[in-house]
Amino acid sequence: MHNQIKKQDIRKLTREQLAGFFRKSGKSSFKGKQVWEWLWKKHVLDFDDMTNISLNERNLLKENFLVKHTNIKDYLVSKDQTIKAAFLLYDGQSVEGVLIPVGGRITACISSQAGCSYSCVFCATGQMGFIRNLGYAEIYDQVVRLTSLSVEKYNKGLSNIVFMGMGEPLANYSNVISAVNLICHKNALSMSPSRITLSTAGIVKGINKLAQDKVKFNLAVSLHSAENDKRSRLMPLNKKNNLQDLASSLKNFYRATNKRITIEYLLIDNFNDSPDDATALAKYCKQFPAKINIIEYNPVKNKPFNKPSKNKIEMFIKTLEKFNLIINIRKSRGSDVNAACGQLAIQGLFNSEQIITSNE
Ligand code: SF4
Repeated sequence: MHNQIKKQDIRKLTREQLAGFFRKSGKSSFKGKQVWEWLWKKHVLDFDDMTNISLNERNLLKENFLVKHTNIKDYLVSKDQTIKAAFLLYDGQSVEGVLIPVGGRITACISSQAGCSYSCVFCATGQMGFIRNLGYAEIYDQVVRLTSLSVEKYNKGLSNIVFMGMGEPLANYSNVISAVNLICHKNALSMSPSRITLSTAGIVKGINKLAQDKVKFNLAVSLHSAENDKRSRLMPLNKKNNLQDLASSLKNFYRATNKRITIEYLLIDNFNDSPDDATALAKYCKQFPAKINIIEYNPVKNKPFNKPSKNKIEMFIKTLEKFNLIINIRKSRGSDVNAACGQLAIQGLFNSEQIITSNE
């Protein structure tokens, strides 16, 4: 019977493991370093494109490995030039990413999980349920593909990366950290960690782990209410990660990293937009160095929430301003293609009449 070798995904191997593979095969371990760079620096997906690797060595690679890669399947361009992209993973699952051009900077918003288990009530991804964690290469590929799309559409690469797409990054801790390490590796994408922000729904254990690991990237937390009852209604995970524990973990994070924490606050009409809500938010944010991003709610299909009136938003900001905090008001971007915060969910994208291109 034909004895076929089960091929391994080559990008699961570290540089040292690749060097070891060549050594064991009687070749120079230096080849491992070269192949690693073809994979992670030059993003080559076909072994035959590795031109400084001999035919014999390429055949050896082909016999033992494959490259499980992620591609952009489709993308939509919003009126404000925000682009929402659908990525196709090797097993047929899909996730989404977004390119946001603002003031000469291009921010890429990427996903860490297919679906999400946390069921935040305002979030379209939460409605999908959890499908699976993404591997670090799948997270990395999104950055590579969005960089190419950014160069093609805006003539420049990425300025910033935010883990704010589908999924809770701290629920997929090791893959997210490995992806960041590769994005920042001098022989891979060589991006500064200060240009990366991980956005969490507030997983206390994960934030404490980030502090313990003394990470060099930024942290944003989706707060959305500074009252436990209200926050639990919006984000059920608050029952196990209450505001007091969350504040302790954020103080811990600041002590370990010296990085100011971004607090995201989605303003929802008649829910968390009163002057009392603003006061509670300000008092909460006084506990650690913070800046507050106020985001107008983007309506999601089948959700009962609305965007507050202009007047209410102004009142809320006025109350907040009395507390001498750093406040940004974030205009919603790309809402006509459901690319704004809390709107990422794969349904609809492939059926949309707005599809501009397909790479299939
Ligand atoms: S907001 Fe984040 S944590 Fe909550 S359901 Fe959506 S993706 Fe999951």
